[in-house]
Amino acid sequence: MKTVLITGSTSGIGLGIAQEFAKTQQYQIVFNGLEPNGAEIAAEIGKTYNIPTIFHGANLLYPNEIYDLANTAIQTFGKIDVLINNAGIQHVSPVENFPDEKWQAIIAINLSSAFYLTKAVWPVMKTQKFGRIINIASAHGLVASEFKSAYVASKHGIIGFTKTIALEGAPFNITANAICPGYVKTPLVEKQIDDQAKAHGISKEEVISKVMLYKQAVKEFIPVEVLGQLALFLASEAATTITGTAIPVDGGWNAQ
Ligand code: NAD
Repeated sequence: MKTVLITGSTSGIGLGIAQEFAKTQQYQIVFNGLEPNGAEIAAEIGKTYNIPTIFHGANLLYPNEIYDLANTAIQTFGKIDVLINNAGIQHVSPVENFPDEKWQAIIAINLSSAFYLTKAVWPVMKTQKFGRIINIASAHGLVASEFKSAYVASKHGIIGFTKTIALEGAPFNITANAICPGYVKTPLVEKQIDDQAKAHGISKEEVISKVMLYKQAVKEFIPVEVLGQLALFLASEAATTITGTAIPVDGGWNAQ
């Protein structure tokens, strides 16, 4: 059995990805997130699919908690085969009013946590000559939208980081790829609908049609299962030669 560690896996996309890995019954899963029922979610999925799971509630703002997450995972399961840096937050505001503490938190959670975790699992992946690092970036890793300065900066940053570790990992069969989703209807996006409505001064319905899905050629939210299936493929032995990529799953947004 392989081990996968997924940050922010007790909600939204991370939870959806964890479910796709669980269904294969080939992975033991390390869950993480700030949801107060995280331990129950991990236990329930473990029971449903008859796989080992653990939950660690590290707050990814803090490097010491991140290192404890990685060490606990390695001590519990003896190895980490797949690291999925998924946890992320958003804040929508014109740059001149953008709160300093929101900028710092977005860069810390969306970008720096991936660095700390990669560094922590690297020796294990290197020794076992197998590693798969999958970073959940965003369509906003490839293009910008107004009022999202910190988020866009963090997501462009993680794609640069992905490319660098792809180069460093190649001699050790460690691949690194970024997945760049368009809009997925998760709690993060539900909150953004409200924030965008305020920032643009329009209704929630208009945010969905005129701001969010306006940019996608396919006028549908991205199903979380598609992201889970793509992550599973990138994690597989078959995907050894796919590395350093940023793969859009964005309904054609980046084709424009
Ligand atoms: P979500 O809010 O549903 O889930 C985010 C997860 O991250 C939660 O489990 C939360 O507890 C965790 N998290 C947040 N701050 C944390 C912290 N300090 N420490 C530990 N965990 C923390 O959001 P989501 O939409 O599922 O987003 C997941 C990822 O996908 C993010 O990186 C986001 O930027 C990216 N993404 C989302 C969309 C979308 O449309 N939903 C699109 C593109 C990219």
